[in-house]
Amino acid sequence: MKSVEPAQDHPETCFECDAPVETVWHDHSFPYGVGESAVELTARIPVLVCTGCDAEALGHAAEVLMHEAVCRHHGVLNPREIREIREAHSLPRTGFAELSGLSTASLNRWEKGILIQSQANDRYLRLLESPDNVWALRRLTNELRSGQRRVSSFETSPGASSSSTNRARPEFRHVGDARSLLDLQPVFRVRAA
Ligand SMILES: [Zn+2]
Repeated sequence: MKSVEPAQDHPETCFECDAPVETVWHDHSFPYGVGESAVELTARIPVLVCTGCDAEALGHAAEVLMHEAVCRHHGVLNPREIREIREAHSLPRTGFAELSGLSTASLNRWEKGILIQSQANDRYLRLLESPDNVWALRRLTNELRSGQRRVSSFETSPGASSSSTNRARPEFRHVGDARSLLDLQPVFRVRAA
């Protein structure tokens, strides 16, 4: 079932015949995964359809929406949600990386949809939505900078130690509502030196 959207702000022309292209939204089903974990996912995506010939194309927006459907399937944050969590704290990727112990490269890949974060990192990111947790990390970062606390007194980023568990179970379970995850807060308390 197709429905034609109103004219777009940025009309494009067909790469085949130069005729105007219109955007048509439809529910697109696509296979995801292999073997027993293979599923069919659905995303409502915009398709660019030529008004002059039969040419059709998927734009970047369609890829983003399909990636979001995959994230939904895994029960993890999608790239936009990760970026929104970071931006809510007014931090660039480098600053967010320093604060969280996550790498700038990983954040970059997650926010661009190149890779999907592990379940452990996804839960960690959800905890970073809380201003209280970010405040605690800011304080820790300042203490480390000023030498009041030794770097060796805390473990590396969450997820690093539990990745073997994730690898054994590629299927993510739905993590539920972010508020309930706040119960995990003590995990992020730093042991005294
Ligand atoms: Zn055309």
